[in-house]
Order: sequence, then C-alpha cells, then structure tokens
Amino acid sequence: EVRVRIAPSPTGNCHVGTARNALYNYIFAKKNNGKMILRIDDTDMKRNSEESEKGIFEGLRWIGIDWDEGPDVGGPYGPYRQSERLDIYNKYIEQLINEGKAYYCFCTEEEIEAERREQALKKETVKYSGRCRNLSKEEVEKKLSEGCKYVVRFKVPEKVIRFRDIVRGELTWDGSIMGDFVIRKSDGVPTYNFATAVDDWIMKISHIMRSQEHIPNTFNQVLILEALGAEIPEYVHFPLLLNEDRTKISKRDGALYIGEYKDMGYLKEAVANFIVLLGWHPADDEEFLLMEDMISKFSLERINNSNVVFDFKKLEWFNGIHIRNKTVEELSQLVIPFLKSTEYYEEVVKNPVKLEKIVEVERERIKRLDEVGKVFKMFYIEPEVYDIDEIKESVKKVEVAEMINMIDEAVVELKNIEKWEKNILEDYMRKLCDRINTKPKILFMLLRIGETGSRISPPLFDTFEIIGRDSTIKRLENFKN
Ligand code: ATP
Ligand code: MG
Repeated sequence: EVRVRIAPSPTGNCHVGTARNALYNYIFAKKNNGKMILRIDDTDMKRNSEESEKGIFEGLRWIGIDWDEGPDVGGPYGPYRQSERLDIYNKYIEQLINEGKAYYCFCTEEEIEAERREQALKKETVKYSGRCRNLSKEEVEKKLSEGCKYVVRFKVPEKVIRFRDIVRGELTWDGSIMGDFVIRKSDGVPTYNFATAVDDWIMKISHIMRSQEHIPNTFNQVLILEALGAEIPEYVHFPLLLNEDRTKISKRDGALYIGEYKDMGYLKEAVANFIVLLGWHPADDEEFLLMEDMISKFSLERINNSNVVFDFKKLEWFNGIHIRNKTVEELSQLVIPFLKSTEYYEEVVKNPVKLEKIVEVERERIKRLDEVGKVFKMFYIEPEVYDIDEIKESVKKVEVAEMINMIDEAVVELKNIEKWEKNILEDYMRKLCDRINTKPKILFMLLRIGETGSRISPPLFDTFEIIGRDSTIKRLENFKN
C-alpha cells in the first residue's frame, strides 16, 4: 500500500517549498489509491509554535491538499506530533543500547571541541572519535548514578551506506567518515533523524518524498532503520526552490506564507498549478493543470533534478489563466473579499448584478484579485479631476469649445435614448458623429475620458451600460465644466 507523508516542523510559516512537497505527496497518494499522512516534526522544541501548526493546516488545505491521518484528524498510527511520541523513541533507543548498536556518551562540549581542533590540525576527518564507545558497563553505571550529563550516540558501521532514490538512482556515502552521531540529546529528546526514521517505519511510510537538502539525513536514517531491522522505504528527493538570488527559499529568512499568496489575490488553483510545475512536468507538456489533471498525469519518473528559481511573473500568468477559467458568478464571489475595504463596498453588496457585469468586462485585464478595488472603482465613484493636458493630447487638433459642444450634443442624445443598452448607445453615438461631422475615434475618446477619467477602459458602451444613465450624464456634465 502506498503511504506517504509530509512532515513539516511547526517553526514558522508554510511556504511554497512545503506546499509543493505536500502537493507531490498528495497527488502521488491519490493516483495510487494510497494514504496521505501529515505528521508534525516538532522535536525542535524551542522553535515550535501552535500558531504555525495552524498556519500549515490552513495553507495546505487552501491549496486543496488533505490528509487521511494527522494530528487534527487522528488515525491508526497516532499520535501524529513527534513531541507526543517521546516514549516510543525512548523504547527504541533503549533497545539499540541493549543490542550494542548505540551507547551513552559523556563527553563534554569542550572535549569534543578540542578533539575537533586536533583533527583539523592533523588534517584528519573531523568527526566524533568514538571515545565513549568502549566504556564498560560499570563506568557507564557510575557516571549515570553521579548524574553526569550524556547523549546517546549511534554506532556508525565502517561501511558504504547506500540507498536508492527513484529519481537519482543509487546514492552512497562512506560510513567511515561519518562519525557516531547523536540520537538522543542531553535534554532527553531524540534528534530529528532518529525520530523521523522511527516514525516513518512505525507509520509504514512506503515512499519518503522530500527535498534534496535531506539527502545527507537520509544516510543517517537508513542506518537507523537497518539497526532497527526495519524495511527500507523508497526515497525521492525533489529539487529545491530558490529565491531570485539563488538562495534557498526558507522560513528562516522570511519566505512568503501560503496565506499571503491568497491575500495578494492569487487563486488557489493558480498557486497549485504553478507550484506543481516547479520540479515536474507532465509527459504531454500541458501547462494548464487542475487538481484532477495533476493526479492523472503525475509520475515520479518525471521529477527533475535541477533546482528552480521561483518566478513571480510566471505565477501571475497562471493566475490570469485561472481567473479566466472561472465563471463570472464564481469570480464575482471571489473578488468580494477584496472589495471589503473600499468606500463603495455597500453598493457592491446591494447590487450583485452590477458586480457580475463589471467582472465580465474586466476579467481579461485582471492579473491579481487584489487589483480589483482600484480597477472597479470607476464603476462606482465618479472621477474627481480631469487632466486637461492629457485630454488635449488624446484628441489633438480639436478646440476646447468644439469639445464642449460635442459633449453637449452627446448628453442631449443620451438623455433621450429609450433603452440604456450598449448596442443602442453605440448606434446613437455613431449617428451623432455623422450628424456633427466628427470621427467616432474622437468622440469616443472624449466620452471615455469623461466617463472613466482615463484614456484606457474596458469597451466603452459596456462601461456606459454598467454605470447607468444618471451617473453617465452627471459625469459628462462634470467633465464639460
Ligand atoms: P527551516 O528554515 O526551519 O529549515 P524550511 O523552510 O526548510 O525551514 P521545513 O519545515 O524544514 O522548512 O521543510 C518542510 C518541507 O519543505 C520539507 O519537505 C522540505 O524538504 C521542504 N522545503 C523546505 N525548503 C524548501 C525549498 N526551498 N525548496 C523545496 N523544498 C523545500
Ligand atoms: Mg528545513
């Protein structure tokens, strides 16, 4: 059975690296009718925060990732927080000590530091010398009864450590340069590698899939699994996501939290689509992918090896595509939260039909939902000032008096039009051009600036229709003055 997990540490926000890995694990599980497990790797007690755990749940669920087992949903292999599993780890640490595969180490930090300095001076491999490996039972008992501080170290065998990575093939590391590593710290808490190896085993994880910065850890974890007599799972290491300066995106240096993408007006479908392609692409090279496409097209073999720079421009592009993939009704619902802080919000709520019409004419132009407050404003609020130089520049060779006359004529017509509909409006305005002998280009530009305050707008008569007769006439009269 396929069982995969995402195991974030609740030491900060859930950024795109975590989200992308969770997504790969999730779609792999779905594709294989397997189970997705969320485990909280919180052995770094000092840095943990409850808020960050909640943020991780929310961020992942927003993107559309769910889990079959986890701290908030339970499951047969719980608890799913490492901090609640210390007894389990201690039991196996005890077992390894009894079997002679791990040992107490009483070396002080100063002693170890001195040892390192000496090794460096002699140009030897810098590693723990194994000094406490051969303490007798009596010596250990004596030190323990004296209350000496200790850690527990794993006896690293002198051999080549190997594991198979589905994407990278066989990876090896020389055990003889590794040094006996700590599996229980002096505060009694197991190290990350120990807790993770034990949990992945007990929780029957079939595929361990995380980013490549974990490759060195994998060697330690494989050794621990072997010592416990556990079966070795499959491994996949994904490429890293990098900032523009090619440093690793990391919560330690303020990576954006997934929720911040939401607040910036990115659609969850766009974020998921964008991140799924950071390190993988489908065989048919299709770029527009919804969750069901990802699940049907995903394969581990197509994961690539090279690290990827996170490109906001590309994310924006995907956002545009997914915005246009929404129905007008869906999109109208999605923009409402982004209009809450505007001065015209009341009218937005009062008139849902108007909002849908605006969304319909503007959707092509919107890149992020957080733009809508500004972009939609002119449909609700009359322009306050007009830039006379800009107007002259837009309709060259037309005298001001002539402009005023044109607007006057247009206003008279507009007041009398029986049906306020874009096609009828356009018809009338074209006829007016013929009658007063001006080009539509000039009149329409004037009307556009008068109506919207700007030379650029959605189709003019759509805009007229949405804004309505009263406000349009008021705007044009204002403009004229
Ligand atoms: P920290 O700085 O505390 O190590 P982090 O940003 O590395 O935090 P973790 O909680 O350690 O985040 O990692 C969670 C998951 O995200 C792991 O699967 C890890 O491999 C992955 N991950 C973290 N950073 C990146 C990154 N820049 N690119 C790809 N994956 C990442
Ligand atoms: Mg990390």
